[in-house]
Amino acid sequence: MRESILIYFFRFLFIDLTINRLKICLDKGVHFKEYKDDGFTGTDADRDDFQRLLSDICTGKINCVIIKDLSRLSRDYVEVDILIDRLFVQMNVRFISLHERIDSYNDPDSVSNMVVPITNVMNDQYCYQTSKKIRQVVDYKKRNGEFIGSYAPYGYIKDPNDKHALLVDREAAEVVKQIFAMFLNGMAVRAIVNHLNDHGVMCPSLYKQSQGLKYSCPNGQAKPMWSTITVTNMLKNPVYIGDMAQGRNRVKSYKIHKIEAVPEEDWIVVQNTHEPLVDRETFEKVKQLLKRDTRTAPKQKQLYLFSGFLRCADCGRAMSRIASKELYVYYQCGTYKSLSKKACTMHSIKSTRLEAATLYAIRQQVHLAVSYSAIVSQINLAPLKKSQSVRLERFVGFPNI
Ligand SMILES: [Zn+2]
Repeated sequence: MRESILIYFFRFLFIDLTINRLKICLDKGVHFKEYKDDGFTGTDADRDDFQRLLSDICTGKINCVIIKDLSRLSRDYVEVDILIDRLFVQMNVRFISLHERIDSYNDPDSVSNMVVPITNVMNDQYCYQTSKKIRQVVDYKKRNGEFIGSYAPYGYIKDPNDKHALLVDREAAEVVKQIFAMFLNGMAVRAIVNHLNDHGVMCPSLYKQSQGLKYSCPNGQAKPMWSTITVTNMLKNPVYIGDMAQGRNRVKSYKIHKIEAVPEEDWIVVQNTHEPLVDRETFEKVKQLLKRDTRTAPKQKQLYLFSGFLRCADCGRAMSRIASKELYVYYQCGTYKSLSKKACTMHSIKSTRLEAATLYAIRQQVHLAVSYSAIVSQINLAPLKKSQSVRLERFVGFPNI
């Protein structure tokens, strides 16, 4: 009988043994296909080849699977159980695990043998323990202010003498400084992105590759470029003020390899661990500016004077800027404009009126501040006993009594 075999194993498995077996198979005219994905861990059921294996089983392309040991199939107990007990049986697939000496065709009992469930529970537990231990070690390093990432943040390189320390990369550092300066000068993040891409500045992933690092772009883009996410993340990253802020993202669990953001109060921050590229005052200003909602039209480079500052007094929603041929600019309640004509009223105001009113308000404040300091100095200069009457006479305008 011709039997097509699919072999699913890791490169470092008992290669000789497997090759010998394969030779025997080939001599008998058996087709086989080898699936490798040794870059992944056994916990990751999304493994590409693993998915192909499942799909080939489901479509009936294969009728035998050989693996090194059960842990390579999956480290999740429930999942292995489903695969062996249901899928393989249902699809009539012969299953061989070399390490546990399981062969569902020659020795069906070996599958239902206690070894299978126990090994699977052990693998599950092993993963959990390993993951816990690794986390403890990594957290300890983070709390010590040691850098634990694979690649230094853009603008820095890993110290060749200490892979947990950061040194400034002069070339990239200049770009970082430029980005902070552009943002403080009022450029929108999107405009900064355009500027960098238009001027052929290499984005962080390209730059890393140009430095000979084996860095692959997370999104798999053929020609990676600067993006608003990259720039925004840089503007928020305390690494640039010399602080080591780690643990900003975490993997959900050893089973679910989903990355989630950690709230800022839970970050592990150690101050002044390396040379800063930006001073703390600038960083704080940038942080405040980022909190403003400053969306602009795509071609708009500079922010408008009131971007992110105006709110409707009634509903609290941001006011939208509306321009008719740039001659007549006005602001309108965002709720009224885009959500509902009944939930709020138009509340529109001309930009010129608003500017005049703002200027007036600023002048009033300046005037008050000046007068107030004059009053304070007058009071301070006046003789102690008469101070009350001086205030009344000179500033409130009461007649002399
Ligand atoms: Zn409103």
